[in-house]
Amino acid sequence: MISEEEAREGILRSTGLLPARKIALQAALGCYAGHDYAARIALPIFDNSAMDGYAVMSTDCRPGARLRIIGEQPAGLDRELRLKAGEAIRIFTGAPIPQGADAVVMQEDVAKQNDEIVVNVEVESGEFIRTRGCDLSEGQKILGKGERIRETTLALLASQGIAELTVGGQVTAAILSTGDELAKAGEPLQPGQIYESNSILLQGLLERAGATVKSAEHCRDDRESLTGAIEQGQMESVLIITGGVSVGEHDLVKAALQSLGGKIDIWRVAIKPGKPFLFGRVGDCAVFGLPGNPVSAFVTFLQFVRPAILKMMGAANLDPVTVPAKLSVDLGNEGDRAHYFRGKIENGNFSPVGRQESHALFGLSQSNALLRLAPGEKFKAGAMVTAEIWD
Ligand code: AMP
Ligand code: MG
Repeated sequence: MISEEEAREGILRSTGLLPARKIALQAALGCYAGHDYAARIALPIFDNSAMDGYAVMSTDCRPGARLRIIGEQPAGLDRELRLKAGEAIRIFTGAPIPQGADAVVMQEDVAKQNDEIVVNVEVESGEFIRTRGCDLSEGQKILGKGERIRETTLALLASQGIAELTVGGQVTAAILSTGDELAKAGEPLQPGQIYESNSILLQGLLERAGATVKSAEHCRDDRESLTGAIEQGQMESVLIITGGVSVGEHDLVKAALQSLGGKIDIWRVAIKPGKPFLFGRVGDCAVFGLPGNPVSAFVTFLQFVRPAILKMMGAANLDPVTVPAKLSVDLGNEGDRAHYFRGKIENGNFSPVGRQESHALFGLSQSNALLRLAPGEKFKAGAMVTAEIWD
């Protein structure tokens, strides 16, 4: 049995970056930037109006002043109007500021009389003008290599006129569930059978991590079916197998991998739940053998599979999102493995939910966070802890 840290380091060491690719902005959500990006356009690109109103010279304006309207500048092509003393130009939000104007007066602050306005307020120079570059300067860094592309990143890149983006490689995944006892949802259950639930769990987790799930197969506990299914699955960047990695006679994953010339780097990790976890390779494919118990599969996915996928995709940050929380009960780990408690963070408090056992899917389904306790670690209710929030 190796430590969790050794397992994670070993997995990441043998996990390489997939080749970067250029894709349309529309397809880049959730990907990771392939290199740094700098602004090629200042924001705003030109001085423009923040309001619907009138472009004016601020020195002309005091309550009661009359200005002659000499033209109109809507948002759109610059009409290159020029403003002289005593004049105003009708202007709209986003329109370029005409030459000679140094402020915009809101339409609510003037009274229009034929081709004149009467100003009702004092106006300061620069008022309601969004000046060129006040938000972003040309050359300023807008995106770092390995940063995740979010909706707002896409908007910023689009505002730069960028239509294509270099991002990290695409991770494809195959899922393989194993076990003679498993029936498919929608089909009748025979005595002794249970419904298969890990595939759909893993599919969601893989997609959330940014991988593309190419297949989800089920196979019985026999060597031939397993070898055949692994041969299929190894075409993808990662193969996630659940079940069959423990020590029973029906746990055939190790033998099947070895018979295909696969290499097993890690088997059995000091983590609870999830001890029988396995990691290896067949050809170019990274193989993760997750224990069949649903909570074990979930915990080992987050601790070992997710960071590997993120690394392959070129992510700079492989860590889970953590938040400080106040523990609502006494909690301790008397075992010799790191224990991940499933719990719920609500209003800044972390409370364990459900039975803390590896088969207990209901509790897991009510949780949104994990709390790791190292062997021997103990906390009193009210202690501040750092939880990994997964939803
Ligand atoms: P195994 O790791 O194959 O020994 O399975 C451990 C436990 O997890 C057993 O109780 C299995 O019935 C259960 N199990 C294995 N695979 C799945 C699955 N895909 N969905 C739900 N339960 C499973
Ligand atoms: Mg099994």
